[in-house]
Amino acid sequence: MPSKIPQTVTRFAPSPSGYLHLGHAHSALFAWRAAREAKGRFLLRIEDIDNPRSDPAFMDAILEDLSWLGLDWETPVLHQSERLDAYAAALDHLRDKGLLYPCFCTRSSIRAEIAASGQAPHGPSGAVYPGTCRDLSETARAARMNEGKPYGLRLDIAKALARTGPLTWTDLGKGEIQAAPPAHGDVVLARKDIATSYHLAVTLDDAKQGVTLVTRGEDLLPMTDIHRLLQALLDLPVPQWHHHGLLCDETGQRLAKRNDALAIRALRQAGKSPAEVRALAGFPG
Ligand code: GLU
Repeated sequence: MPSKIPQTVTRFAPSPSGYLHLGHAHSALFAWRAAREAKGRFLLRIEDIDNPRSDPAFMDAILEDLSWLGLDWETPVLHQSERLDAYAAALDHLRDKGLLYPCFCTRSSIRAEIAASGQAPHGPSGAVYPGTCRDLSETARAARMNEGKPYGLRLDIAKALARTGPLTWTDLGKGEIQAAPPAHGDVVLARKDIATSYHLAVTLDDAKQGVTLVTRGEDLLPMTDIHRLLQALLDLPVPQWHHHGLLCDETGQRLAKRNDALAIRALRQAGKSPAEVRALAGFPG
């Protein structure tokens, strides 16, 4: 019997913290085209867990701009804010395996610790966490919790990798990639203010939505090492990835995300047609 090739499922996952601009349009069109060319499905997800900067007005504007651009998607649209129970369950699972630890550090205490150590290891996610809270005794942890000190949860990367062994993942443009999670240090999986993080939410939501091909800008490529690790720890299916180049202007400079003149609605108000804006976003014709 011929083996059944799974249908391609892609997604676009904007954060509603501003209007859609040309860079987003490029990303959305990239995912939409990939689904269409494979006769697959295209889904949307609103990454609205970054509460202080999320604004429902932007959510409506994003959907309206995408539809003006000529994109269509399957409903329902997933909202991360509805998924907090799923994130909590995954955190419990990882905690039961002994892979998480509470971190009471603040940004400034981490900076001070790094400065005092005389080293400043830098990873793809910025300064690498020096591991201050990893080796706190249970008594010290309990004392801090009793004092009501806020804490996030970090993944003990060394312990996690000892469990999974080496991991690889496939990018359709770049081929097979050896995952190197330790370069990130012990990443935060639950922030102090939100009981999840970008890494955890994106990984769980892609699995929930049955995404088989994760497309996004190549600035996020290094993050995939962490997502691949989480998939292995949480027994989630492993999709393929395709990280696309970022839009540049005619001088080769990356388009600034916060350039209001490049907002889709500004271009629309300036009289551009959807086809013209699609072409500006790198998808002519
Ligand atoms: N919400 C993220 C962004 O707007 C996208 C994350 C992803 O595609 O993994 O950059």
